[in-house]
Amino acid sequence: MGRKMMKRQAILRSSTSTVPKHARKSCANKEAQTQVICPTGTLKLSACTNGMHSLKLETVAVMITSSKKCQEITEKRNGDINADTSRHLKDCVKWLTSFFKGEPALLSLHRPALCPEIFNHGNFRSKVWCILEEQVKFGRTVSYGELAEMCGSPRASQAVGSAMRNNPLSLIVPCHRVILSSGKSGNYSGGTMNDTKIWLLDHEKTFKASDTIH
Ligand SMILES: [Zn+2]
Repeated sequence: MGRKMMKRQAILRSSTSTVPKHARKSCANKEAQTQVICPTGTLKLSACTNGMHSLKLETVAVMITSSKKCQEITEKRNGDINADTSRHLKDCVKWLTSFFKGEPALLSLHRPALCPEIFNHGNFRSKVWCILEEQVKFGRTVSYGELAEMCGSPRASQAVGSAMRNNPLSLIVPCHRVILSSGKSGNYSGGTMNDTKIWLLDHEKTFKASDTIH
């Protein structure tokens, strides 16, 4: 067995031991999706009647622009659209618009509802997502080890890394704010979107700086 294969198996073992199969849940409700063009590329949003299921960066902007525009592609809405899913998607687009504009209103804006079937498993992974979302606010960063400690398991930085890789709701569960203990930004989306992570961290820093002045 090659070294790579052994390493892969070790990772698989550690992730299954952290998140037992029986603790994994997914939502059986029908989903609706929409797409939003934002400064870092196209985001795909999906929700059910109970809240958001996912927010994923689908394509990376060829060149990240200085534009802070964020716009829903309304003709791309599909799936099981009803009043509740529509509201969750709309709330999320509103939240994203504030996020990219860096509006001070974001600090008081309620985040969109999250579907409990996806986010409240009671396992370590969802605990990491919740603590990150609740405690690591706009403009702040935390290391993998610090986040593990905040979750009550100081030695679980690898499991924290796994939770970040499997985060279904980027930006709202701000995995881009989790950086290396050296201060370097580290990987984003398995290393394929590291420039996006740097852009997001810079964007938040700029906003924090101007926010402090006012
Ligand atoms: Zn759901």
